[in-house]
Amino acid sequence: MSVPLLGQMMDAPLLLSALLTHAKDYHGDTEVVSRTVEGGIHRYTYADAAQRSRQLANALKRIGVGMGDRVGTLAWNGYRHFELYYAVSGSGAVMHTVNPRLFPEQVAWIINDAEDSVLCFDLTFAPLVEAIAPKCPTVKHWVAMTDRAHMPAIKLPNLLCYEDWVEAESDEYEWPQFDEKAACTLCYTSGTTGNPKGVLYSHRSMMIHTMSGAVPDVFNLSARDCVLPVVPMFHVNAWAVPYAAPMVGAKLVFPGAALDGASLHELFESEGVTFSAGVPTVWQGLLQHLQANKLKVSTLKRCVIGGSACPPALMKTFEQDYGVKIHHAWGMTEMSPLGTFNQLKNKHLKLSAEQQFAIETKQGRPPFGVQLKIVDADGRSLPRDGHAFGDLLVKGYWIVDRYFKGDKSPLQDGWFPTGDVGTLDSDGYLQITDRSKDVIKSGGEWISSIDLENVACAHPGVAQAAVIGVHHPKWDERPLLVVVKKPGEEVDRDALLAIFPDRVAKWWIPDDVVFVSELPMTATGKISKLRLREQLKDHRLPGV
Ligand code: AMP
Repeated sequence: MSVPLLGQMMDAPLLLSALLTHAKDYHGDTEVVSRTVEGGIHRYTYADAAQRSRQLANALKRIGVGMGDRVGTLAWNGYRHFELYYAVSGSGAVMHTVNPRLFPEQVAWIINDAEDSVLCFDLTFAPLVEAIAPKCPTVKHWVAMTDRAHMPAIKLPNLLCYEDWVEAESDEYEWPQFDEKAACTLCYTSGTTGNPKGVLYSHRSMMIHTMSGAVPDVFNLSARDCVLPVVPMFHVNAWAVPYAAPMVGAKLVFPGAALDGASLHELFESEGVTFSAGVPTVWQGLLQHLQANKLKVSTLKRCVIGGSACPPALMKTFEQDYGVKIHHAWGMTEMSPLGTFNQLKNKHLKLSAEQQFAIETKQGRPPFGVQLKIVDADGRSLPRDGHAFGDLLVKGYWIVDRYFKGDKSPLQDGWFPTGDVGTLDSDGYLQITDRSKDVIKSGGEWISSIDLENVACAHPGVAQAAVIGVHHPKWDERPLLVVVKKPGEEVDRDALLAIFPDRVAKWWIPDDVVFVSELPMTATGKISKLRLREQLKDHRLPGV
């Protein structure tokens, strides 16, 4: 067998600790600002964060955390969580961010599955931790992420105070060099069916993901930006923003637990935020606050919205009324999460605003590093014509190969089946039609719930909309529209259904409308169609 001629360049593993070292060396005075759980604003620099992360790495070593050991967190976006991101992964241990919005039994299940040896928590979650501790035998140390003055009055074995623990250590610490394929982080999927599944990212995969995610056609991040990730650090690494911001030297602002419109707006304005990222419900909350109080945003320029489909009406309002460009993105826990990002191409610049908008409402195209294909029920590739829709499969540098402790690979011929259904056009833009289990199957044909929700959200009286399939004796399933009205708005069933005929095929029009005061949400801020279907399973459609 012939052997390639090896290049003669320096060989250094791609390790996440290098990102923070770079930020310290070249952006040392750039600020990291956090709204804290204890109250008030904490402010320091990348140089400070790097120093404290080295102290924390020593602290972890002192309590016996070694290579590959899992350190769990139940925490909001804040500077201590950021220090853990680097100290844990940088020292060769595995950062395991647990979603505190899950049910306590699920939280305990996940901690046990991951076999976390240390669990660090924000004060908000002290009662949760106290309740689950007896069920988590692998956890040897519990760390309250606060100072001595705010220590919670809870009974836990081996409870440490984060500030005492870190401040007792020296900052003399050399980040170890090890195999870049080593695991850095562990996140669990939301798991709407069965138990959640762990996705174990490697330093290499996360580093390549971060570099590809910062480029102009994706997050477009630079040292002139001030970035506020609303997406939680417990949800797929806050879409890698805590890695990308130090890489480019952007100012970083953490919102803590206050994710309502008023708190976010205040922080955007006081810190001069230029770029932010989050799920649609967060932006709907912000928009309602801006509209109700006749406010403007003065520095915010760009937002990425993903996690679930972004209603076009929301994108349009932000751009036209507030001058904020919304970029639609799609991804999943199994993809670290970046799958696609929406930016126009050069050839699109000469199109009309309306034509451009039609492209921008799609989920976007893959950055270098991700490949997409859609297939029919027999696994045959479908054309990239923007019309044919099928099961979406992905492949790439930062996509799961197998689940944590999983004995069977989920891949099909080297491709990961996403469980999403969509179309691809000739330029590679993806449009998600549905999660495959949410597609409405009517008379053997498929109806996209997302398309119908987008039409409903364009009605001025609609705050939120969800469409589910309900049983129909003749058609198998028919669409039912479930709506939360905007406060103070009057809209009835017939007025709402009247907007559909011009926008979708006649047989797609929902058979009925139900008004509710709120929609059930998942732990990651998405509308839970599973629970909605359960709630409305006895709904009788008109004429049935
Ligand atoms: P998670 O692993 O919790 O991040 O969930 C991933 C799933 O969220 C995907 O498989 C999609 O079903 C959904 N999703 C993420 N982004 C979008 C988007 N922009 N539009 C529609 N669905 C999305």
